[in-house]
Amino acid sequence: MAGTSVLLHNARLIDGNGGDPLPGAALLIRDTRLEWVGRTEDLAPGTRRDVTHRVDLAGRTVCPGFIDTHVHFALPGTKGSALDGLREPPTYRTLKVLERLRVTLENGVTTARDLMGLDAGFRQAVAERRVPGPRLLVAVTMLSQHAGHADFTMAGGFDALAAAVMFPGSPTGLVDTVDEMRLRVRELVAAGADCVKLASSGGVSSPHDDPEWLGLRPEMIRAAIEEAAAHGGRRVAVHAIGRPGIAAAVRAGVHSVEHGYALDDELRAEMADRGQFLVPTLTETMTDLDPARTSPAIHAKGVRWHRVAQESVARSVEAGVRVAMGTDAGLTPDHGTNLRELELLVRFAGLTPLRAITAGTRDAAELCGLSDTVGTVEAGKLADLVITGADPLSDIAALADPRQVLVVVKDGRVAIDRGAVLGDTLPPLCP
Ligand SMILES: [Zn+2]
Repeated sequence: MAGTSVLLHNARLIDGNGGDPLPGAALLIRDTRLEWVGRTEDLAPGTRRDVTHRVDLAGRTVCPGFIDTHVHFALPGTKGSALDGLREPPTYRTLKVLERLRVTLENGVTTARDLMGLDAGFRQAVAERRVPGPRLLVAVTMLSQHAGHADFTMAGGFDALAAAVMFPGSPTGLVDTVDEMRLRVRELVAAGADCVKLASSGGVSSPHDDPEWLGLRPEMIRAAIEEAAAHGGRRVAVHAIGRPGIAAAVRAGVHSVEHGYALDDELRAEMADRGQFLVPTLTETMTDLDPARTSPAIHAKGVRWHRVAQESVARSVEAGVRVAMGTDAGLTPDHGTNLRELELLVRFAGLTPLRAITAGTRDAAELCGLSDTVGTVEAGKLADLVITGADPLSDIAALADPRQVLVVVKDGRVAIDRGAVLGDTLPPLCP
């Protein structure tokens, strides 16, 4: 297919930058990239002659491929228990991850940031097109103090997270001093982590803590940020639910607060001033963990904090806090349901459908440090596209319906084409 250039024309383009859709748009794809994007009539005659294949999109809407900034491919969603891995060899767990990567991609997510669970090998296999999946950024593990959100040591003395979820060779996430924090971040760098995930508050699903508790002291968060920055400018994402953990994370200067349910106006103003992102993970709040599969205590934490989350997020948006799409897929949300978050950002955060799409494309790319390559449909960027027959601006929930996600293109290759829209013009992602 070398030398081919494919013109998708008669498209309605939502380019991810937040502007009104462009009717009568055309996109010229050459190899992995978008070579030209604009109104069909503005395509220069010379370029027009170079086009080897044309596809009439018949007015269908094109969006950038979506970016989920908070997923856990090592966790099963509702399709099992996080503890299933205690009875499974790591090879079997790996093969289950491959299914989750594929279904996520086929439902419109072309880039995903795994914030605990996957190691760098998954990223490599996807990048080499050995397996279909979203382009991956991996945190490998999550760092918290002992008895914090990363500590899943069972009463019998067994480390359930290490045994059932993490892959062999992944570093431990438990850290109690500033010096240990520097060591842990360096271990993650050596393990190939793209970013650093901390837990500065307790969690809903963890057995020994409460979201109101501090999970890392401020000086440890600062040390992690400093080490991450010193190693290639890596970014720091922080799980923080209760106020003490959020305050510590925001004031230490983290890049994103994940969850952020107990944000108050004082902290919202500080986040807005610093340009820090909130990743509200609303999809996660729609399901309370099954008390039979976890514990009554964990169930009760979920019921309480999910309501707080849904009531708090709109005020954060009103206060000017930037929001990026993230779902916590794998924890309670099923893999592949990621774009449900767009509807929830409209329903609970008060975003317009267009702004929700921007939160899941351009803004998510910015949070991930990928603005140069993905997040918008613009010349020079990688050709990551979602083509839908629905109008997401009048029905944002449509994007959560796989039947409406007709085509997913990643790196100029077809991940799925449910409507046979593209024929064989673009090559398949994984032949
Ligand atoms: Zn998470």
